[in-house]
Amino acid sequence: MSDDLIRALASALPKGRVLTRTSELLCYAYDATASEARRVPDVVVLPASTDEVARVVRIARGAGAPVYPRGAGTSLSGGAIPAQGGIVLSTTRMDAVLELDAENHCAIVQPGVVIQRLNDLAAAHGLMYPPDPGSVAVATMGGSIAECAGGLRGLKYGVTKHYVTGLEVVLADGQIVRLGGKATKNVTGYDLVGLFVGSEGTLGVITEATVRLVPAPEARATMTATFAQSSAATRTVAAIVAGNVVPATLELLDATTLRFVEEYAHAGLPTDAAALLLIEVDGPPEAVAREAAFVERVCLGHGGVVERAADDEARERLWAARRAAYPALARQSRGTIVEDATVPRSRIPEMLAAIEEIARRHDLTIATMGHAGDGNLHPTVLVDPDDAELMERAHAAIAEIFRAAIDLGGTLSGEHGIGSAKAPYLGWALGEGGLDLTRRIKAALDPQNILNPGKFTA
Ligand SMILES: Cc1cc2nc3c(=O)[nH]c(=O)nc-3n(C[C@H](O)[C@H](O)[C@H](O)COP(=O)(O)OP(=O)(O)OC[C@H]3O[C@@H](n4cnc5c(N)ncnc54)[C@H](O)[C@@H]3O)c2cc1C
Repeated sequence: MSDDLIRALASALPKGRVLTRTSELLCYAYDATASEARRVPDVVVLPASTDEVARVVRIARGAGAPVYPRGAGTSLSGGAIPAQGGIVLSTTRMDAVLELDAENHCAIVQPGVVIQRLNDLAAAHGLMYPPDPGSVAVATMGGSIAECAGGLRGLKYGVTKHYVTGLEVVLADGQIVRLGGKATKNVTGYDLVGLFVGSEGTLGVITEATVRLVPAPEARATMTATFAQSSAATRTVAAIVAGNVVPATLELLDATTLRFVEEYAHAGLPTDAAALLLIEVDGPPEAVAREAAFVERVCLGHGGVVERAADDEARERLWAARRAAYPALARQSRGTIVEDATVPRSRIPEMLAAIEEIARRHDLTIATMGHAGDGNLHPTVLVDPDDAELMERAHAAIAEIFRAAIDLGGTLSGEHGIGSAKAPYLGWALGEGGLDLTRRIKAALDPQNILNPGKFTA
């Protein structure tokens, strides 16, 4: 990257907001994806306003330099890695909650706001922002909108795209556009807000978002059910969903995950079970009592051992244990590859059986957890990036997991996105027609391919 470009960036932004020292740049060379190669950017910019973002993008466009938008860098698909060097545009300085409109059940935020912070502010008004990725305490609104993040409440409440009603976006030519707004119903023209949700920084930089909030549930019941066979756990998931009861949370941890989580979090989880379901129902107290009793009956009917969280402290312990799953697995090997192939809910038993068979055949440790109620499992392969033979087996197994999910009527990614990690497989899920349309949209909005190049449509 030329010195002229860095000088232009430095003169466009206030002092201290253009980083060029290697020690600083190294922090932006990676995200949470262990399988993708790191790449040190040439420069990092820290804009604090939409105008500053637009200035950066215009300078980049003039020079044909890549721009990599970045929130907290917790992407699990290589989305935030500056694959071709160039400029990392970090949104961490744009972290204001601009408005919390309790009357209209919505909030307007800058992209660098951490999701949990919005939730804490909403809670003071008896409201909540439902998208709840495991990374909620650090991930940003911009990153989660760009990934269309899901999370632990997806079964009942849906995912990020169901909550974004308005966006401000800086396009690849530096133009600032405002799309949608506070109205929850809006069919005025194409769904342009929807186009940018889940676009992984490849179509524009999100500089502001209007999101829906919902009333926080009055009551909750949280329980675990442990099973001697994983197939009994997955059949239980299918039976609960088929019973027309929709828990807020229906998470599965297999035996390997359980063992590692317990070693790490000491939450009192049984380490001799083949699988554990973490289930939470919420809503008005009467409905919660009825639904919890139903869920308990289904679990017992499938041979589960059920334990209810007696109080908030016990509930928090269980949730903390679930959220500790990635760090617990990450300690077990030099690297982990976390996948999120997703199938229709009723096919979860077949999907888990397929993952177990693929792991055996390739002689790999694959710990599986995830949002089973959504059909969204996270098979996590323990790897060593320096062991070429192991990595080859891991990648062969992952390709087979993708194929199995697609054959079961599912897809490559339920929530972690495509990034660079799944880009080679995108055509499997979209088909030639879908891939071609995707490429034409990208070419129309970013003809120079400066926004997050090397990702998604590669
Ligand atoms: C421990 C752990 C648990 C996780 N659990 C879940 C989970 O349960 N559900 C789930 O869905 N995900 C989960 N994730 C993945 C990840 O946390 C989410 O995708 C998260 O929403 C990313 O937010 P971020 O701020 O870290 O974004 P980053 O990783 O910084 O960026 C993600 C993508 O968004 C783009 N981007 C960032 N900001 C902008 C912007 N302002 N405009 C345009 N593009 C932008 C980036 O270029 C990149 O492509 C988990 C990750 C970890 C490490």
